[in-house]
Amino acid sequence: MPHWYDVTAWNERLGNDSQTIHSLRRFRTRWLKQGWTFEASMSEVSAPVAEILKSEITPHPLSLAERLDSNLDGATKLLFRTDEGLMIESVILRAGTGRTSLCISSQVGCAAACRFCATGQMGIARNLSASQILDQIVQANQLLQDEDRRVRNIVFMGMGEPLHNADNLHEAIAALTSPLLFDYAPQRLLVSTVGIPDEMLRLDQKFPSVNLALSLHSADEIGRQDLIPLAKRVPLDRLRETLLQLKLSDKRRIMIEYLMLENRTDRPEDAEKLIAFLENIEAHINLIPYNSIDGADDLRGSNQAVRDRFAIRLRAAGYPVTIRYSLGADIAAACGQLIQRENRQIAKQLRTTPVANR
Ligand code: SAH
Repeated sequence: MPHWYDVTAWNERLGNDSQTIHSLRRFRTRWLKQGWTFEASMSEVSAPVAEILKSEITPHPLSLAERLDSNLDGATKLLFRTDEGLMIESVILRAGTGRTSLCISSQVGCAAACRFCATGQMGIARNLSASQILDQIVQANQLLQDEDRRVRNIVFMGMGEPLHNADNLHEAIAALTSPLLFDYAPQRLLVSTVGIPDEMLRLDQKFPSVNLALSLHSADEIGRQDLIPLAKRVPLDRLRETLLQLKLSDKRRIMIEYLMLENRTDRPEDAEKLIAFLENIEAHINLIPYNSIDGADDLRGSNQAVRDRFAIRLRAAGYPVTIRYSLGADIAAACGQLIQRENRQIAKQLRTTPVANR
C-alpha cells in the first residue's frame, strides 16, 4: 500500500469524483496547512473516505516527549521520541518579523562525526523515515496554531546528515512541495549538508529550487579534515567542482556555513583560503558562532572583533555575509546537545551497530 504522503498515490486517490476531491482537499488543508489535529480534520470528509484515511494514515509516527521554550528569544525546542525509544529534536524559531522557521532532523545521530557537533558525537546513525521527517512539521504546525502562526521556512539543519538519508529526504521534499499536500514553495526549504557530492548534484537536479547549504567550516584541507572526519573522503577540490556544477535555478546562491573557531578557522589566512575556494561561485556566507559541547575542550569560539574583521574581508571580496547569532542558548538549541547521553544509552540497549564507516 502506498504511503499517505506519496504524491502519485494521493493524485490517484483523488480520482474524479468531485465530492471526494472536495472533501479530501479540505482535509488536506486543515491537517497539513492549518495545523488542525488529524481527528478534527477528519470531520471534513465523508464517512467512506474517512474509513480509508484512518486505515492508511498513522498520523503521528513520533511522540512529543518535551517542549522547551526559551526565555531569551523566540526559540522552542521540541523533543520527539521514535518508536524505538530514540530521541530527536526540532527547533521552532520565531523571528521578530512574525515569520516562523522550523529546523528539523533527518536522522537520529549522524555518521559524519564532526568534532564540534553533539549529534556527530552520539555514536549512532539511524535514518528517519519520510513520515517521521514530515511529522515534525505537522506537530510543529499544530502547536503553532494556538499562536496563529504557521511554519514558513523549513531548514534541514537539525540532527543528522540529510544527504545520507537521501531517498527519504526526497520523498519528504516531494510531499512538502506538492500542491496536493503541504504546498510549500521549494524556495522555503533549505537542505544543509556536510558535503556529499553525488547527492548534492542529485538533489539539485531533482529539486533545483530547493536551497542548499554546504557546511564548509574551513577551506584548509588539513584543518577541515581535523574538524570533519568525513572530509578525508571528499577533498576540497572535489567539493569546489561540485559547487561549480550545481545548476541552482536563477538568482539563487549556495549558502556556505562557516563555523568561527579561534585559531582554527578565523585567521586572516583562513579568510584568504575561503575566498580562493569560492572563486567564481555565487555564494552567501553565514558565519556561525560555536556552541561549545561536551568532549571538545580544545575548541573555542572566535571573539567578536575577530569575527567582524573576518566578515569585512569577505565582504570586500564581494560576498554577502551574515553573522549568525545563537538562538535558544538557554534551551541548548544546538542540535543534539540535550539528548546526546540519553540516545547513547538507548542505543546501547538496542545494541545498535556502530556508526557505518562511510
Ligand atoms: N549534517 C548537516 C546538517 C545538520 S548540522 C550539515 O552538516 O550541514 C547543521 C549546522 O549546524 C551545520 O552547519 C553544523 O556544522 C552546525 N553545527 C553543528 N554543531 C555545532 C556547534 N556545536 N556549534 C555551532 N554550529 C554547529
